[in-house]
Amino acid sequence: MADKRDYYEVLGISKGASDDEIKKAYRKLAKKYHPDVNKEPDAEAKFKEINEAYEVLSDPQKKATYDQFGHAGMDGFSSGGFSSGFGGMDMDDLGDIFSSFMGGMGGFSGFNFGGNSSSRRNGPIKGDNRYMTLEIDFLDAVHGVDKLINITVDKKCDHCDGTGAASKSDIETCSTCRGSGRVMRQSRTPFGVIQQQSVCPDCHGTGKRIKKGCPYCNGQGYNTVKEQVEVTIPAGINSGQQVRLAGYGERGENGGPNGDLYIEVRVRPHKYFRRDGNNIYITVPISSVDATLGTSVDIPTAYGDVELTIPAGTQPGQQLRIKGYGIKDLRTKNVGDQYVEVQIEIPRKLTREERELYEKLSTHKKESVFEKFKKAFK
Ligand SMILES: [Zn+2]
Ligand SMILES: [Zn+2]
Repeated sequence: MADKRDYYEVLGISKGASDDEIKKAYRKLAKKYHPDVNKEPDAEAKFKEINEAYEVLSDPQKKATYDQFGHAGMDGFSSGGFSSGFGGMDMDDLGDIFSSFMGGMGGFSGFNFGGNSSSRRNGPIKGDNRYMTLEIDFLDAVHGVDKLINITVDKKCDHCDGTGAASKSDIETCSTCRGSGRVMRQSRTPFGVIQQQSVCPDCHGTGKRIKKGCPYCNGQGYNTVKEQVEVTIPAGINSGQQVRLAGYGERGENGGPNGDLYIEVRVRPHKYFRRDGNNIYITVPISSVDATLGTSVDIPTAYGDVELTIPAGTQPGQQLRIKGYGIKDLRTKNVGDQYVEVQIEIPRKLTREERELYEKLSTHKKESVFEKFKKAFK
């Protein structure tokens, strides 16, 4: 553990770096050292180091522990390189990095980078990611919301630490493959004898054999459990954006941590509010008299009613702005506006008194708008 580099140093940032600076530094380095892109021999180790640093510094709780105790405080976390700690959840906006490398859904599966897999076959492999969708109300998306969801997840067995063995002494090196997980097979072909490598049939590639299975997980190394998890949906989230639940993906292999669960949010449309970017739109009916003379009305917003002046002479379809009553941007934290589109209502029925008043208006006009139009029409 002594040879571990300081996480801040790994990301090339100072101790006082903001969340944004941490994220930026991580994104830059993750892109640079991603083994799919960077073929230098130490790229994978670097990438792993970067991810580990970010996993800690992006999590307020882990960061606080690390700031106080350094690597010594990260016991149990750093063992596999990646945390298998359940429950760490944060808004993931790195999805685009992963999807750009993995071509979408395939899933970012930690350190299982494929390629040279024979050397890694015995080592811990992070599980695949899982995906689900979650519908939320419009106003919950504006304000943010905590949602309880039920998840079935394979959790590493604490009693055997995922080995599936009753005790450490019950783990033996597989004698068939001598721990390599692979065996050489000879097959005779018209061209001669060909040697082929294949997965060891006795240990299925783990290189180990268990004498006595762990009673708490029936020797599986994990237990399938149902959990109710609280998911924090940040204010300003929009349909199609994802929240990541670390450790709730598919189980890892050979003691590797679970993958992550990506929850894609779908926002239900609101009866009156519409969203465009970070602005909210609403259409309200105003009587022709109020639009002509001007008035003051209480307009519903996502944050309660706001008094709005409808100026005299307001036209149908005119948009009035209520500044700062839109949606808070997830990244920049800038808040959008609410736009009020005025729909002028022409009365279909008039009382006798109203009719008289309208008629008075009509006869007093020197020239109607239609007559003006006809004159100009050629
Ligand atoms: Zn067990
Ligand atoms: Zn074997």
